[in-house]
Amino acid sequence: MLSRIIDIINSYQVFLITSHVRLDGDALGSELALYHMLRRMKKEAVVYNQDETPQNYRFLPGNEIIVQQLPPLGEFDAAFVLDCSELERVGEAANKIGRIKRIIAIDHHISRGAFCEIAYIDHQASSTGELLYRFAEHMALELTEEMATNLYAAIMTDTGGFRYGSTRQSTLTAAGNLLGKGADPQWIAENIYESKPLAKIKLLMNVLETMTFDLGGKIGSLVVLRKAIESAGALQEHAEGFVDIPRSIEGVEVSILYNELSQNYFKISLRSKGKLNVEQIARAFGGGGHANASGCEIEGDIETVKHRVLDMTRSIVA
Ligand code: 5GP
Ligand code: MN
Repeated sequence: MLSRIIDIINSYQVFLITSHVRLDGDALGSELALYHMLRRMKKEAVVYNQDETPQNYRFLPGNEIIVQQLPPLGEFDAAFVLDCSELERVGEAANKIGRIKRIIAIDHHISRGAFCEIAYIDHQASSTGELLYRFAEHMALELTEEMATNLYAAIMTDTGGFRYGSTRQSTLTAAGNLLGKGADPQWIAENIYESKPLAKIKLLMNVLETMTFDLGGKIGSLVVLRKAIESAGALQEHAEGFVDIPRSIEGVEVSILYNELSQNYFKISLRSKGKLNVEQIARAFGGGGHANASGCEIEGDIETVKHRVLDMTRSIVA
């Protein structure tokens, strides 16, 4: 499949690169690394995202070229859809982008089969960043510092700083080689994890008060209401990472975050320890992800939504 993708790159000139809504480090790092690779190969590339880059990822080399306005599609020979198990995850422009002649998916989520014919998918890979690292290796493309920084950020964030079960020997080998190409691990980690706006911490202070436990402490939950975001002067994106807090508690096996996107509409994030598979919970509600980290969106008031998710979670944990 990698050779087929390389053939397409060699045969055409103008590429669209995109990823999922509610951007994370793997989506952005992968998009920008691929952008720099295509430029190096003398190709034209546009990176389009529905959402703006969260503040802590704006340092990524090339971020300034990302557009939130989809250019006329006639310009593109092919589109790369990265880190998405379904085309719909791209957001409102998904249908339009789906009409581009050649769609190439590169992804590491558990999926129900690819949404396009040309797909490089390895759900055991730590990150889409690691897949793009392999892709560069396959092409014998010399990595620049910009590519290395983006790929390292992608791999580091999707492995929770090389802590998750998806961290394999190949992951650390890739990360090590990226340091050799100029990625600076301290600078990257400081930008992503240690440059938080004070509003995020104020929001966290409010959100921690919502912590509840079920099933004798095996399930820990947090709720982020819009009014909490408003009163902290924070943004929706500032809830990123909060779901890791209940999971960090001894005895907690599943962590759930309910994030109110709009009235009676919640984004649910699920995290688990060990072999507990929360992808099946998210999938039951139309979402997806990985065994230890998944997400979905559910309509309803907070009590009803909590009830539905907890019922499903209890049946898996108990
Ligand atoms: P997070 O909770 O950090 O948003 O997402 C955790 C994992 O689940 C990520 O790999 C993410 O791509 C996936 N995920 C989150 N929300 C959704 C969703 O609504 N649909 C699908 N298919 N995957 C999701
Ligand atoms: Mn990813």
